[in-house]
Order: sequence, then structure tokens, then C-alpha cells
Amino acid sequence: MFNGKLNRVQVDPALQNRVNAYNKYGGWGSQCNAVTEFKTTIKPLLIKNQSGLCAYCGLDFNDGIRQIHMDHIANKANHTTVIYNPDNLVCSCPRCNMDFKEDIETVTNCTSSDYSKWEFNIVHPYFDDPADFFEYDYITPGFIRNKKGINDVNRRKAINTIRLFELDSDYLLSKRKEKMFYNSVPKSISDIIIKISRYKRR
Ligand SMILES: [Zn+2]
Repeated sequence: MFNGKLNRVQVDPALQNRVNAYNKYGGWGSQCNAVTEFKTTIKPLLIKNQSGLCAYCGLDFNDGIRQIHMDHIANKANHTTVIYNPDNLVCSCPRCNMDFKEDIETVTNCTSSDYSKWEFNIVHPYFDDPADFFEYDYITPGFIRNKKGINDVNRRKAINTIRLFELDSDYLLSKRKEKMFYNSVPKSISDIIIKISRYKRR
């Protein structure tokens, strides 16, 4: 949400065709070659596409996050037709994936066979531009709120997204402030500060 609207990612059409056969309940857990190949192919593409940041909260995957999860924007239990649709996949931190999002329903309308026409109750990382939903308070660095003057549907989406991923939590505010600080000083200095802050007394 803090990295702008994401570019869409694609895998080789032949691989996509093979893996689409597993667009069914439980298909994501399949041990077959097509599924394994798809996961190992798309995961690094997603991470690169997201500049190494969680698609939801913007935490840096290099910032002490133990695991990078792949998350289905429309959950895979209720929406089996899009389990392997790259537009429905992002990489996220375990906190956003496991603690907050889990299998909650994010889809409000899936009557179209075209996933890009579905409607969601959260800001969609590929189809929505976060700049249309959120604004930052520059007086309190790191603060985020729903944008003023947007229509009711979008305002609800913005508020729901902030609440769901606790984007205004003290934890994330301090993380964003830290990042803004490091981005504001020359890299040679921020590297030294990071080294000192990670130094453990023996
Ligand atoms: Zn996250």
C-alpha cells in the first residue's frame, strides 16, 4: 500500500496453463511439478515487483522478517478459480498474512468470469492506486489516514484496509518513521547507524 499500485506479474503461458488445472479446492497444497514450479517461479518475481516490501503493510522483507508468505488477495478457500491467477497473488509478511488477513472474505462481487472486474472491500494491490485512497500526515511522519473527499465505497475500502492490516498501529508508525529517517540521511551514515543498532554486546 506504500509502494504505489503494483505492476501485474506474469509467468510463462505454458506453465500458467499447466498449473491452471489445479485451480480447485486444496490445489495450492498439491505436490505436483506444475504447482512447485509455479510457486518457485512466481515468488521471486512478486518480491522483485514489490521492491522487497510487504504488499499490505510495506514492511521491508530484509528488516528482520523470518518468512515471506504468498497471499491470495481473494482467499483460496472460497475462490478456487483464481488460486493461480498472478493478479490474485502478492508476497506479504507473516503478520499481514497470518495474524490479520487469514481467510477473511475480501470479495464483494465475483459475478464476472474476468477477475479484474471483481469488486473488493480492501484496496486491491494491482487494480487500485493507493494514492486514490490514502494520505499521509506530514506533520506526524509515518501517519496514514483515508483520503478526504473520496466516494463512500472507496472511503469504506480505505478504512477497512487500514483497520484490517492495522496500518496506523504504533508498531508500523515507528517502522515507517525509521525508514523515512534512513532514507533522509546519506547511505554511508545510515549503514553505520544500522550496524551500531544491530551490534550485540557479548
Ligand atoms: Zn505486512
